Amino acid sequence: MNTEILSLRLQTVVKYIPQGLKIADIGSDHAYLPCHVVSKGISPFAIAGEVVEGPYQSAMKQVKLEGLESKILVRKGDGLAVINPNEVDCITICGMGGTLISTILERGKEKLGTIKRLILQPNVGSKAVRKWLLENGWMLIEEEIIAEDGKVYEVLVAEQGSPLTGYEQDIESGLLLGPYLKKKQNAAFKQKWQAEKENWLRILQQLEQGGMNPEIEQKRQELLQKVKIVEEAFKGNEES
Ligand code: SAM
Repeated sequence: MNTEILSLRLQTVVKYIPQGLKIADIGSDHAYLPCHVVSKGISPFAIAGEVVEGPYQSAMKQVKLEGLESKILVRKGDGLAVINPNEVDCITICGMGGTLISTILERGKEKLGTIKRLILQPNVGSKAVRKWLLENGWMLIEEEIIAEDGKVYEVLVAEQGSPLTGYEQDIESGLLLGPYLKKKQNAAFKQKWQAEKENWLRILQQLEQGGMNPEIEQKRQELLQKVKIVEEAFKGNEES
């Protein structure tokens, strides 16, 4: 991967950046995404935010190498702390766990008032991201799930609006599987949830072999509920 040729995962994120919007890429690491969108003329200006010194230096190096210092500012800081009011219109946060992404959004809430679009790419735990969006007035407008190099990635796109949009059928199932992904059920979706289901069934079997206590019983019920959600979604898709 480099600035010219992004991974399919980052290409999928880029697809949702509207032409002309200024972006902040939080946890940018090598800054390939901001370098790509600025050099391709998709965005006129970008901020690459990094909290860790090593990746921050990589981002600085890459931006200098591409000669993009006048259009991409590399800033060191935690989450949305690197953004000043009205500086950008769109925020991308990619390649982290869903819990970390939702913590970054929660801690930087006051910076989001003028943001038009969030494009979030959790590697795992997308439920935490959907839950945060739902609870904070962000409407999921599109979702994608893709497979690359044996891994499955989700991309969530949100704008300010009615947060319940898309969840008309069932909130619990929508939060776990993604309301739009659940409707489409492409091959990557099936691959991910089949593997998750098999994993949960294996854990359930192990739990049944151990002793019983209220904690184990609660864990068992949670896993059974998730298995049920996945089976119902698969069944609903076969019937439709
Ligand atoms: N966004 C790039 C991508 O998707 O290819 C890099 C992903 S890399 C796995 C995650 C990056 O997020 C790391 O470089 C890490 O230092 C950075 N990071 C983690 N927590 C952060 C935070 N609170 N604020 C800013 N950056 C953070």
